Amino acid sequence: MKKPFFIQVLLSIFIGQLCVVTVLNAQTTPRVSAWPRGVTYEIYVQSFADSDGDGKGDIKGMTSKLDYLKDLGVEGVWLMPMSPSPSYHKYDVTDYYGIDSAYGTIDDFKNFVEEAHKRNIKVVIDMVLNHSSSRNPWFLDASKNVNSPYRDYYVWTEMSDPQTQSQGNVTAGENRRRNHWTRLRGVDSNYFYYSQFGGNMPDLNFDNPKLRQEVFKIGRFWASEVKVDGFRLDAARHIFPDERPQDNHRWWEYFLQEMRKVNKDFYLIGEVWAPAEVVGPYLKGIPALFNFDMGSAIIKAVNTEKGDSLTIMHKKIRDFYKTINPDYVDATFLTNHDQNRIMSSVNNDVDKAKIAASILLTLPGSPYLYYGEEIGMQGKKPDQFIREPFLWDVKGKDKSRATWEAPRNSTDSTITPVALQMKDKNSIYSHYKTFIQLRNGSKALSYGAVEPVNLNNAALCAFVRLAEGESVLVLHNLSKSEVNVTVPDELKDYSKISFKNKDVTLRNNSLKMPAYSTVLLKK
Ligand code: CA
Repeated sequence: MKKPFFIQVLLSIFIGQLCVVTVLNAQTTPRVSAWPRGVTYEIYVQSFADSDGDGKGDIKGMTSKLDYLKDLGVEGVWLMPMSPSPSYHKYDVTDYYGIDSAYGTIDDFKNFVEEAHKRNIKVVIDMVLNHSSSRNPWFLDASKNVNSPYRDYYVWTEMSDPQTQSQGNVTAGENRRRNHWTRLRGVDSNYFYYSQFGGNMPDLNFDNPKLRQEVFKIGRFWASEVKVDGFRLDAARHIFPDERPQDNHRWWEYFLQEMRKVNKDFYLIGEVWAPAEVVGPYLKGIPALFNFDMGSAIIKAVNTEKGDSLTIMHKKIRDFYKTINPDYVDATFLTNHDQNRIMSSVNNDVDKAKIAASILLTLPGSPYLYYGEEIGMQGKKPDQFIREPFLWDVKGKDKSRATWEAPRNSTDSTITPVALQMKDKNSIYSHYKTFIQLRNGSKALSYGAVEPVNLNNAALCAFVRLAEGESVLVLHNLSKSEVNVTVPDELKDYSKISFKNKDVTLRNNSLKMPAYSTVLLKK
C-alpha cells in the first residue's frame, strides 16, 4: 500500500526552498520569440520520417528533417516516448536509460540533440514516470518475489482488500482489472498491483524513497548526459492517487528542483488533462501545462462560428494561472496525439482548420502543434489512426514515409504531401508557416498580454495584444460570410493594416472582412 510518510519527507526538503522558479529569458536570441514562448512541434517518431526503409520512423529520419522544422519556424520539439517498450506507442517503458532499437541508438539521439541545438531548436522528451511496463525488469522481479529489492517500486494489495472486490467477486485465475487494481498473473495469486492505466502499466510507488531516487537518476541522465532541454510529463496528475492531489503538486516541485540542479533552465511541461481549476495548482512544480480547456474552446468556436467569448475565457484562465506562478507558461494547442486531429474535428473543412490555426497562433501562450497538423492530416480514434505516417512527397517519390501501418485517414487521396504544399501559397502548410512567422516576428504576439475586445458580433474573435513598444489589434472572422464592422472609437488609433490574409479593407473605421479572414491593425 502507498505509505503515508511522504509528506513529512517533502516538507523537510521544501522548507526555505520554495522560490526556485527561474524566469525563462530571451535576451540572447536574435528573434523576437524565444522558446518556450515560440512554437513547439510534437512528433510521434514512428510515423514521422524513416531513414532506413524498414517502415518505421526513426531518429536519423527525424534528424534529416530538422531543416524542415527550422524553416517552418519551430523553436522546440516534443518527442513522444522513444525508450524500449513492447507497445507501438511506447508509453510503457522497459528501460528508462535506453532508446528502442527500432528508433536507433542513444548515440543517434545525442547527435539529434546536437543538430537540433545547432539550429536553436530545443528538445523536450516524453517522460513516462507514473508507471512502467509490466515487462520492465523491475516489475518482472518484483512480481516473482515478495522480497525483491524492486517489490516496493510498485503498489501492492491482497485479495482480502475490499478495493479489489468492488466490481464483484474475483474468481481464481482471473486477471481482470478491478478499478485500478490488476491481479497478478498466476492461477492462485493472492496479489493485486495498482495500475491506473491497465495491467500492462503498473504504477510506480512514489511513496518509496528508493524509487524517487531512481526517478531523479533517470531525469539527471537525460538532462546532463543526453542534454535534452526538458521533459513532457505524462499523466502528471496520477503520480499519487486521485484523492491525494496535493502530494502530486508537491512531488513536481521537488522534481523540478532536482532537475534545475543539473540545468537551471530545465523545462517541464505537464499533461494534466483536466479543467483549468485542476491544472492551475500544478504550475508551481510544472511551470508549463497544456491548456486543454482552450483547445476545446477554439474548436467549438470554429465549428459554431462564434468567437466572441474566446479571449474572455482565455484571459480568465491566464489571470488565474498568474496567481499561482507569475512565470507560468500557458501551453496552448488545438489537439494532440490522444485526440482526433484538428482537421477531423472540423469535418475536414480546410477553411475552418486554417482559422483555428490563425486563432491559436495569435492568442497568447506557447503554442504546440501536432506533427502533420500543418499539412492538414486527418485522423480519428482509435489512437493508431491519429498517429499515421507523415506525407513528405507523392507516393513513389517519398523516401522518408513510414509504412508501419496502412493509414485509414491521411492517405495519398485525402492529403497533399508537403513537397507540393510548399509550392502552393494557398495551402494549409503555407497558412501555418505564414502565421508562425508572423508570431515569431512580433513581440506583442509572442509575449504580449491579451485584452478582449467586444464588437457586438458573435462571428468575430477580437482582441488586443500588448507588449512594451508594440500593440496590435487582432480580428478573426470565424464565419463563412463576409462581416462588416466598425472599429470602436476607443480603438480608432489602430488605423493601419499591418497584416491580412484575405482581401480585408479598412475605410473610415469601417472594416470589411471576408469569410474566415484575419487582420492585424496597428497604431
Ligand atoms: Ca526506420
